[in-house]
Amino acid sequence: MNQKVDVVIIGAGAAGLMCAAEAGKRGRRVLVLDHAKKPGRKNSDLWRW
Ligand SMILES: Cc1cc2nc3c(=O)[nH]c(=O)nc-3n(C[C@H](O)[C@H](O)[C@H](O)COP(=O)(O)OP(=O)(O)OC[C@H]3O[C@@H](n4cnc5c(N)ncnc54)[C@H](O)[C@@H]3O)c2cc1C
Repeated sequence: MNQKVDVVIIGAGAAGLMCAAEAGKRGRRVLVLDHAKKPGRKNSDLWRW
């Protein structure tokens, strides 16, 4: 990757995505990183009712 970003957000949970959206709305270039295979994995995969 050879792109410059203004903001790096670790974690694509609700808080991280909200921060990303707000920073994006303010014109910032945002990179969101998550160690899970997909965002929201905790809520979608790890819990079975
Ligand atoms: C089954 C279930 C139902 C829920 N229902 C509701 C509801 O109805 N209403 C409500 O308000 N809340 C609900 N919650 C709580 C909800 O999970 C939290 O409010 C919300 O997800 C918190 O968001 P967060 O971004 O703080 O944390 P998280 O959602 O935990 O996001 C953190 C992210 O950071 C990533 N991460 C962590 N460490 C690292 C690392 N070192 N490097 C890279 N990435 C990393 C994780 O993979 C994760 O994606 C529910 C939770 C569960 C489990």
